[in-house]
Formats: sequence, C-alpha cells, structure tokens
Amino acid sequence: MKFTPYWLDTSSPGPDRSTTDVGGKVDVAVVGAGLTGLSAALHLARKGASVAVLERDTVAFGASGRNGGMATTGLSIGFRDAIARYGFESASAMFLAYNDAIDSVEKLVGEEGIDCDYARTGKMTLAAKPGHYDGLQKTHDVLAERLGYETQMVAKSALRSEIAGDFYHGAMVDPKGAGLHVGKFTRGLGESAAGLGAQIHERASVEQVRRLGGTKHEVVTSRGTLQADQVLVATSGYTSRPFRWQQLRIAPVGSFIIVTEPLGKEVCDQLMPNRRMASDTKNLLYYFRFTPDHRLLFGGRARFAMSSPQSDEKSGRILQKAMVSVFPQLADTRVDYCWGGLVDMSMDRMVHAGEHDGLFYSLGYSGHGVQMATYMGKQMAEYMNGSLDANPWRDLTFKRIPGHVGPPWFLPFAGAYYKALDVIK
Ligand SMILES: Cc1cc2nc3c(=O)[nH]c(=O)nc-3n(C[C@H](O)[C@H](O)[C@H](O)COP(=O)(O)OP(=O)(O)OC[C@H]3O[C@@H](n4cnc5c(N)ncnc54)[C@H](O)[C@@H]3O)c2cc1C
Repeated sequence: MKFTPYWLDTSSPGPDRSTTDVGGKVDVAVVGAGLTGLSAALHLARKGASVAVLERDTVAFGASGRNGGMATTGLSIGFRDAIARYGFESASAMFLAYNDAIDSVEKLVGEEGIDCDYARTGKMTLAAKPGHYDGLQKTHDVLAERLGYETQMVAKSALRSEIAGDFYHGAMVDPKGAGLHVGKFTRGLGESAAGLGAQIHERASVEQVRRLGGTKHEVVTSRGTLQADQVLVATSGYTSRPFRWQQLRIAPVGSFIIVTEPLGKEVCDQLMPNRRMASDTKNLLYYFRFTPDHRLLFGGRARFAMSSPQSDEKSGRILQKAMVSVFPQLADTRVDYCWGGLVDMSMDRMVHAGEHDGLFYSLGYSGHGVQMATYMGKQMAEYMNGSLDANPWRDLTFKRIPGHVGPPWFLPFAGAYYKALDVIK
C-alpha cells in the first residue's frame, strides 16, 4: 500500500521549483500553492500583475492534492440551516456561489486546456438513517419552491438505480456536481500560472511578514526575502504562526482517504452506475466516488486526529471496514493507497475571505474547497484590485475558535461530540 495521495502519484509533478531565486519586488506574494493560491496567481497574472507564489513544500502538497476531487454544489452547512442563520436572500446567494464556482472550474479547465478528467456526473447525498431522508426531502422542497432549483429525490425502493446494497435509506441527487483528477488539475493550474509569468517557489516557507505600511509587506522565507505590495494568505488547514490571526480562526481537522485496486468498468457499473460524487448525511460522514481508472476512492473523518503516517494507517484500517459495510462486495478488494490531509474548518463552517491588518486571506472552506478555493482565487484577484463585491463572504464575521491557541488539542473532544450526535440523531 502507498501512503501518498493517489492523485499526486498519478499526475506529473512538473519542473522542480525548489531552487528558484526568491527576492526582489512583486505586486503580489501568494502564500500557499494550492487551488486558492494558484488560481489567484493565474488570475492576477492574467491582469498583468507580477506574482510570486511561496510554498513551504511543493505544489499541491496541501489539501488540494489530497482531497476527494469532488466539485459539488451546496454549502458546508445545509441550505435550511443557512436560511435560519442568514435569511433567505443571503443564504441563496451563498448557496448559488458554489454553482458559480463549479462553472468557473469548468471554464478554467477549458480555457487553459487542463487535461484533468473533469466530468459533471452529479452529486448524490445519501440518507444514513431513515429519518435523514425526510430532511433531504425538505431541503429538496425548499430548493424547488423558494429558489426554483431542481434536485431529484431517490427513495430507498429505487436506490439500486444509483448504488448497490442496502446501507442507505434514499438519496437526493443534484446533477450539477462534478468530479475531476485534482492532481492533474492543481498541477495544471500551476503550469498555467507559471506560463503567464507567475513565479512559483517551492520549499520556500514564509517565516515572517513585516508590514511596511498599508498592504505592503516584507516577506521573509526560508530561501530569501522579497517585498510585495499585497500578500494573499492561502494556507487553509496548514496555516501556522506567521499568520496567527488566521490560524486561531481555523481548526485543522484530519480527513482520510483510501483508494482500492482497479475494479474494472463492470464492477463500477454494478456498484454506482451513474458515477456520482457521493457523500452521506452523518456528521462524521463517508464520501466516495470512482477514479478515472475505475478504483473506488472512499474517504471520511475516520478519526479526529491530525494527519501523520501512523494516523493515516490507523484511519485507513477504519475506512476499509467502513467501505466494506457500504459495499460488502469489496470485502476481498485490495487497498492500494491511503493518505490523510487537513480540512480547514471555521467556527461557522463558512468561507472567510477579506483583509486583516493589511493581509488578504481566503480560508475556511470546511471540506468544500475544490470548486470554492479555485473560485476564490479568481474572486480574490478582483477583490484585491478594489472590487469588494467580488467577495461573496464579505459580510461574515471571522470568529476565533474558543480555546484555540495553536496546536488543535480539542480535536478528540470534538470527535467524541460528533460521534455521539451521529448515534442520537
Ligand atoms: C482528505 C480531504 C478530502 C477533501 N475532499 C474534498 C472534496 O472532495 N471536495 C471539496 O470540495 N473539498 C474537499 N476537501 C477540501 C479541499 O481540498 C480544500 O478546501 C482546498 O484544497 C483548499 O485549497 P487551498 O489552496 O486553500 O489550501 P491547500 O491546498 O491546503 O494549500 C495550502 C498550502 O499552503 C502551504 N503553506 C502553509 N503555510 C505556509 C507557509 N508559512 N509558507 C509557505 N507555504 C505555506 C501548505 O504547504 C499548502 O501547500 C478535502 C480536504 C481533505 C484534506
């Protein structure tokens, strides 16, 4: 079994960018070479800005090379919860921003000619308990009646048209969801940004930022110091000390994934004929899909722990059991890949983007960042250019996580809480 992400193992890493010269002056320094940072770099470079992307590790090292590759519709919280919190108008605008985000991924893939197996196969939300189906039905009704937004309900009796087995109790399908190969996509974005002149510096950890006035900063990295008129923090669940204000507002939660050996097209046709991007309604949810080469990718928050080789292995074993409970047909199937990554959870599970103390930031995708991080890279390029309306999250307050002082000691307690909720509700 390999403990590297399948996506990075099956895409080309591109040129080594760890020996480039870091220094001089740029219009914008972007911290983090994930989807947010690379999309921002590309869109800023399209506007003619000089850009330096500073990455502690390598392109796509963070969540962007480690996720499920599901560009799905909807907020991290349910639409009905969003209406209760923010009112119908705001909730609708934020909900629909995810559709704009998927459209923008599709457009970018086409414009830049990124070969990344992008396909709109739809998103399927599966009811983990019989009562959860009623909740999905209510969401379906509210979306249809108040937003004119079409989803399809699949009752338990008809569920075999979507998924084999008896594990789930019905589903809601949104045909607008898409899937892609995130290794090829993120690395492709990096190539496109570099093609437009953006400098990408790997193994260049940002250790300090010194404000020179307004949004201008001196940025000290492990490989040299540069000056930037603007700095964008795009570090998601990997945010650390130099960005203390942002760090204390993000809980880095481990999420883990396994990928099976190739199953062949026929088996995939039997298990999930429509190739949806699937997730279920539990708090500690399972999410799964097929890869372009007919493997099953199965993920979940198997343990409330940080990702590490030992943690990933333990989580892999838990996930394999979970996978077999959903698909008993795979009891003897070999697992070829297992890895973990950090999800950037904010207190309210909403995206937070804006400017604080002269630093721009976009974080808190809360597990829904494939489409939204890419989109926010584009939107932040506008926002940093003065178009404040480009930021759909501008009115949200980015709250500090109570008790968070750096290391996320609270994760096991949060895990126990959500596990208990899954038993009760
Ligand atoms: C296991 C897993 C599964 C997921 N599945 C899905 C999914 O199916 N669909 C979905 O929509 N979302 C999913 N997500 C979430 C999604 O992957 C993220 O929201 C998104 O990739 C965030 O992109 P980003 O560019 O903001 O951050 P990242 O890709 O995490 O990039 C941040 C980068 O910043 C770098 N960095 C940090 N600090 C510094 C520093 N001081 N100096 C220099 N560089 C620094 C890090 O090395 C890292 O490369 C998943 C996440 C995980 C972990």
